Amino acid sequence: SLFRHAEFEISVASPAGLPPPFAPEIAFAGRSNAGKSSAINTLVGHTRLAFVSKTPGRTQLINVFRMKNGAALVDLPGYGYADVPEKVRRQWGELLENYLTRRPNLSGLVLIMDARRPFTPLDRQMVGWFAPTGKPIHCLLTKADKLTRQEQAKTLSAAKVEAARLGDKITLQLFSSLKKTGMDEAEAAIGTWLDQ
Ligand code: GDP
Repeated sequence: SLFRHAEFEISVASPAGLPPPFAPEIAFAGRSNAGKSSAINTLVGHTRLAFVSKTPGRTQLINVFRMKNGAALVDLPGYGYADVPEKVRRQWGELLENYLTRRPNLSGLVLIMDARRPFTPLDRQMVGWFAPTGKPIHCLLTKADKLTRQEQAKTLSAAKVEAARLGDKITLQLFSSLKKTGMDEAEAAIGTWLDQ
């Protein structure tokens, strides 16, 4: 499978420090606390692989994992921390926008959102930066286990309507790291990016 047994390669302070753009790259982004680290750990099959310092205001690192097929999984710093100084926030926004819009080997973006509040303003901003590249976005609506079946169905269809407004290459699914559900669907969706 796609992500299983990916190995940690390097942590870098900014996109400039990433490995040369020779292999395809898949970026993971999301609001802090949305469940990104848990989702990566679940997909890769390790515990605490994507552990990063969560101290607000500290420099957040980009973690690079190397997948078995040679592609890179790039774990971008979470956004939306409450007490990050405005200046740092703006700098990070610029770096992220630059990376998302200019990285030639970036195949697609995996956007992690809490199923209870998808498409917050900052999520929309990420989509707003990335969708114009014409590359695909796959959204994992995490912590789906916190919703009833009925709520899940409702959330998914509402988020699909929202996604269709934001771009035409945005796909979505429910995901739970706790229950380990949605893994096959995620691998299938993201795997198609690397097949071409
Ligand atoms: P990150 O900041 O986006 O990397 O978020 P984390 O992966 O650290 O998760 C934030 C919090 O949500 C932690 O307390 C996790 O245990 C919890 N969490 C993450 N994924 C799930 C999930 O699928 N289900 C439930 N119930 N909790 C989750």
